[in-house]
Amino acid sequence: MLFNVGYKEAMKDLDWDCLVFHDVDHLLENDRNYYGCAGMPRHFAVKLDKYSYMLPYNEFFGGVSGMTVKQFQKINGFPNAFWGWGGEDDDLWNRVRYANYTVSRPHGEQGRYMSISRHHRGEVQFLGRYSLLRHSKERQKVDGLLNLNYSPLVARRPLYTNITVRLSRELALVPDY
Ligand code: BGC
Repeated sequence: MLFNVGYKEAMKDLDWDCLVFHDVDHLLENDRNYYGCAGMPRHFAVKLDKYSYMLPYNEFFGGVSGMTVKQFQKINGFPNAFWGWGGEDDDLWNRVRYANYTVSRPHGEQGRYMSISRHHRGEVQFLGRYSLLRHSKERQKVDGLLNLNYSPLVARRPLYTNITVRLSRELALVPDY
């Protein structure tokens, strides 16, 4: 849901072409891993130190991923229904695949990242993610950009924009799933 808010707020600034969704505690180790529009949808964080620099599973789409604005709109953005740690990236992968897009990845050592462990203590795992993921396809149409509802407080600073947002979990829950 926060990624959807970020997207909506960013589009108020400029008519962006493509988007990169980046875990704030992930540090790029190879500056040839270019965050451009080519090859979108793209999974950038292929080799993470916390996973011994190996892809944990083929459908892993977490850490850093990107797509064009057109693609993001077509898949109805991220799900809003995932709260706490885990699953929203798996759901995003499903959305991308249901739309018949192919995900590209950087080759070799380009997709290496370290995470700042001090900042990555981990949120409580969201155990409801498995049942939500079983219904990714049905939820895609009703849970995402189209039902996003939020009230932001935006503070523009010289080097970043701080968005404080009031969210309601009730609004994120989708009946029947
Ligand atoms: C979670 C994902 C996470 C992955 C790797 C999965 O169980 O659902 O959100 O990115 O594990 O940690």
